[in-house]
Amino acid sequence: SVKSGDSSRCVSLSGSGSTDSGGCQRADSLDLANKHDSRWPRQNSLSMKEWDIPYDELKLFEVIGTGRFGTVYRGSWHGAVAVKVLHVLSDDCVPLDTFKHEVATFRKTRHENLVLFMGACMKPPRLAIVTSLCKGMTLYTHIHLRKDKFTANKSVIVAQQISQGMGYLHARGIIHKDLKTKNIFLENGKVVITDFGLFSVTKLCFGNKLVQSLRGDSLGIPAGWLCYLAPELCRALTPHASLHLPFSKATDVYAFGTVWYELLCGEYPFKSQPPEAVIWQVGKGVKQSLANMQASRDIKDILMLCWSYRSSERPDFPHLLTTLQKLPRKRLARSPSHPVHLSRSADS
Ligand code: ADP
Ligand code: MG
Repeated sequence: SVKSGDSSRCVSLSGSGSTDSGGCQRADSLDLANKHDSRWPRQNSLSMKEWDIPYDELKLFEVIGTGRFGTVYRGSWHGAVAVKVLHVLSDDCVPLDTFKHEVATFRKTRHENLVLFMGACMKPPRLAIVTSLCKGMTLYTHIHLRKDKFTANKSVIVAQQISQGMGYLHARGIIHKDLKTKNIFLENGKVVITDFGLFSVTKLCFGNKLVQSLRGDSLGIPAGWLCYLAPELCRALTPHASLHLPFSKATDVYAFGTVWYELLCGEYPFKSQPPEAVIWQVGKGVKQSLANMQASRDIKDILMLCWSYRSSERPDFPHLLTTLQKLPRKRLARSPSHPVHLSRSADS
């Protein structure tokens, strides 16, 4: 079984549902040692060693930002990289198994619209994830900070690329769990999605903070997170259930709907409403009104489908991609001189 310490470097690990068959001798023998451990399925094991980056080999430069679960540094490891160092509060808070499972998930991803995973530091207390450094800005920066206008045509192109990357993730059995404009970079017109499948490990350490904030008066939920949560997630947002939220492919599709809305409207749905109000409305099936949104029926239909109350009624990403590809281009444009006024009244 996995223990912290040196042995963690070369432990054999199976990704969830991975069909890798290239496990080396060493991985096989370690796998045998693990065969009584139900956490590690026997088949498809591959040594994690090749993904393990010794912390000392990394050069860390300035902090790029601090997110919910850790600090991101610009770094260097055979070239420019982004290093996410997880905040580790105490040793027993380190969910090493979970972390390794998520690293195993990462290594299965090779797609143009997904950030390149390069490896991880897996030796507690130094847990870090190393990916390629994204150039360009996030959609969040474009939309909410710089107030850049995305024409409908450009929004469609961006949405198509997101659908492509997400369709790939889902086909590999990976749920993003944190799809949001802050996790989508735009590099010379190319979409790069980051932070897929990391939610569990981050919540295991930081969930407590969320739990406390939910118990508090102010709720303290990070702005711009709630509006990505599908009704079934909002309903599950009780202080104790927050670590076991029922994420699914359909909750990713709901989150995509919100990204689509941000692209088109330049703001979050339920903007400036308090968290309690958003949770209450979304949980019982109320959606942001599109009455004053200047967009074609087809575009609004995509939103409404992604935001369907029933998860089974939400389309999947291949379907969304086809729908986006069929949208008539000419009639999409909305006039940038007419900022969209959005009514706060909700329609169900
Ligand atoms: P969040 O996604 O909520 O902003 P993160 O911890 O994921 O929080 O990111 C912190 C900061 O680091 C953000 O400004 C984010 O844009 C930046 N960042 C994250 N990953 C990368 C990357 N691979 N390349 C460049 N910048 C990144
Ligand atoms: Mg992020």
